[in-house]
Amino acid sequence: MSDAETLFERIIAREIPAEVVYETERVLAFRDINPQAKTHVLVVPKVRYRNVAELAAADAGLLGEVIGAAEKVAELEGIVESGYRVVFNTESDAGQTVFHVHAHVLGGEQLGFFGRYGG
Ligand code: 5GP
Repeated sequence: MSDAETLFERIIAREIPAEVVYETERVLAFRDINPQAKTHVLVVPKVRYRNVAELAAADAGLLGEVIGAAEKVAELEGIVESGYRVVFNTESDAGQTVFHVHAHVLGGEQLGFFGRYGG
């Protein structure tokens, strides 16, 4: 983990506004500013790890809390039955732009396939 602060630390500190949908002592869930589906919520641990691999290695319990919070968000959004996707973009080929690990929770409508860019 590098020392550079990301914008998610500023959201967690409430220095930047975000629409929070769920919070626990160690996890925050808020709506993505540029939603890619009707429901698009980001779930972050309040302590920063660069990506899901670093989080898993350092604190598997906290990773479990992030996944649990993603399920809770799906319940709150009413998309458990219709279905949802949980995605951790990891490093550049996957399009990770914020280097504070976050789960994307996507749903609320039929989602497209995903994979190769443009293909
Ligand atoms: P990544 O591309 O790293 O997997 O996901 C970063 C996500 O953060 C993107 O989906 C992007 O729309 C979202 N995002 C970027 N800036 C902000 C912001 O200021 N507020 C919120 N709520 N989401 C943001």
